[in-house]
Amino acid sequence: MSDTSRRGFIKKTAEAAGLAGAAGLAGAAALAPLAFAPQAAGQSPVASAASNPLGSASGERFDFVVAGAGHNSLVCAAYLAKAGYRVLVLEGRPTIGGGCKTAEVCLPGFKEDLCSSVHSGFQNNPALKELNLRDYGLEYIDPELVMHIPFLDGQSITVWRDLDRTCETIAKISKKDAETFRKLVPEFKAYAESGPAGKGSVRRAKFWQQLNAMSGYDATGVLFESNHLRAGSLACGHFGGVAGGDFGTGGQAFSLMTQVLNGRPIPKGGSGMLCVALGRFIEAHHGVILTNKPVVQLLVEKTNGENGKCLGVECADGSQYRGGKGVVSTIHIKHLVNMAPRELWGDEFNTMVETFQPEHAMIQFHYATTEPPQYPLMGGGTISSTEAVLMDRAESVLLLNSYNARGEVWVDDTPLQIVSPSVGDPTRAPAGHHTVKIEGTLPYDLKDGGPKRWDEIKEQVAEACFNRLRRLAPNLTPDKVLAKFIESPLDIERMNPAMWRGSVHAGDRRLPQMASYKMPIPGLYQTGACTPPGGSITGFPGRNAAAAILKDLGTSIEEVGKKDS
Ligand SMILES: Cc1cc2nc3c(=O)[nH]c(=O)nc-3n(C[C@H](O)[C@H](O)[C@H](O)COP(=O)(O)OP(=O)(O)OC[C@H]3O[C@@H](n4cnc5c(N)ncnc54)[C@H](O)[C@@H]3O)c2cc1C
Repeated sequence: MSDTSRRGFIKKTAEAAGLAGAAGLAGAAALAPLAFAPQAAGQSPVASAASNPLGSASGERFDFVVAGAGHNSLVCAAYLAKAGYRVLVLEGRPTIGGGCKTAEVCLPGFKEDLCSSVHSGFQNNPALKELNLRDYGLEYIDPELVMHIPFLDGQSITVWRDLDRTCETIAKISKKDAETFRKLVPEFKAYAESGPAGKGSVRRAKFWQQLNAMSGYDATGVLFESNHLRAGSLACGHFGGVAGGDFGTGGQAFSLMTQVLNGRPIPKGGSGMLCVALGRFIEAHHGVILTNKPVVQLLVEKTNGENGKCLGVECADGSQYRGGKGVVSTIHIKHLVNMAPRELWGDEFNTMVETFQPEHAMIQFHYATTEPPQYPLMGGGTISSTEAVLMDRAESVLLLNSYNARGEVWVDDTPLQIVSPSVGDPTRAPAGHHTVKIEGTLPYDLKDGGPKRWDEIKEQVAEACFNRLRRLAPNLTPDKVLAKFIESPLDIERMNPAMWRGSVHAGDRRLPQMASYKMPIPGLYQTGACTPPGGSITGFPGRNAAAAILKDLGTSIEEVGKKDS
């Protein structure tokens, strides 16, 4: 196995192309409109690296070429590298991580998560231990104060890891709801942990299944009497991007129970530290990661009649890279199908991709501040939390599909998630300062102007959302805001083409065509949010794709996971 590192690889290819040396290449790549400064130098050798703008292939031999460097494809690449295969990861943007990336976009020293912040879904992934990610710099903070939910009438609910403390705050609004909540949490835990096989034996399993199948709005109505607990549960349930008025969203009624049970862990130093750790792991296992390498074409073997094998990829700069054993993609399937002749995908696959619909698009507004949001409490005093959620009325979730279909921006009571990681992690901002982020969903395709209209109205929309926050955290007067960075749904898509139409959980996660992680073109595997179990920071699409590949290679993910590394 070669021990070429990424830097060595860049240097070698630079020399092969007759260029003066790798140092001169730093910063040579043109940055796309929403490019940002990488994480502070020294923190991440991967994330802060220079790109390789060379147009030629290196001549290096790789077993796998991985297109895209989101956390899922990095998890997949890390397992392949751990198995002993030579892996090349090509990321289209200047920094790895996709929706799991941290950068100083407002001001130096303020580490903003450009998409995800919370990694609840990753905590049960065996990759955490199997890849020894702690040894590569990944550390989780699990705040005791999980979520604060303030309302305009002055009432509030605070979710703690401690059930009793949580119930105390609910009891101030409804004693009956507090009792129900206390009774349901252990029952829900048993149900959630029973797995598909054990569901039949769990107490009231059919009741929980019935709730799951109905809408979140109806399920919260069955369980709770207060609008506050219903609204809070639905607002947090909406983090997955699906409106709680739809059938099959009944699980949103359990969102606060899940928070008590599992918390909402954030990586110390920022969401991107997961990808930094994965990048370090891959490099330590002789993998190579190149940034500013958008893949535009699949290289497919030419055959007579039979579908040829996927041999590698071509990047926008004309450079080509081959994977002797296969190619792994995390490119959105809407884009991927355009990278090889249509007939190679087959009719069924083409129809599935044409039918595929986006979820509601996301917005994200970042602020560097001198104070965190301080939410006043009914009995006096204030509280600050790493996370809060704003939505006053449970029935507001019923309006989301309607505004989305009409392309109208409605911020009056749309669920807004407020994330202030610096409250739980002082490394995120200079001493005495804070990071505040507002996020939620709004239509991508606006009436009167389509997606491009976002460039005209995003500042105004951000201000309206910030003013909504200020009504509940009045300390955040304009003088407390030092800088801001506004991301519309269009900006989110520009920043990451895998977030097609600003949709981040990649649509329907039950697509049977994606369940095998194998594409119709032999040798081409797919991972990422388009594959089960879908979007969010879980790493499961990545580990599952690696499992499928390793099985094809005659080994197993369990074997590779156990290996010393
Ligand atoms: C505002 C916001 C907040 C969120 N908050 C959370 C949260 O708190 N918790 C949570 O669990 N989830 C959250 N999510 C969702 C989460 O970020 C995504 O579901 C997750 O990032 C998907 O990961 P992935 O590995 O599948 O792909 P992505 O993160 O989408 O990465 C794909 C990568 O592939 C690259 N790529 C795409 N096409 C090409 C190409 N042709 N060539 C080369 N490279 C390419 C992209 O540039 C990107 O780096 C949030 C998302 C957004 C937008």
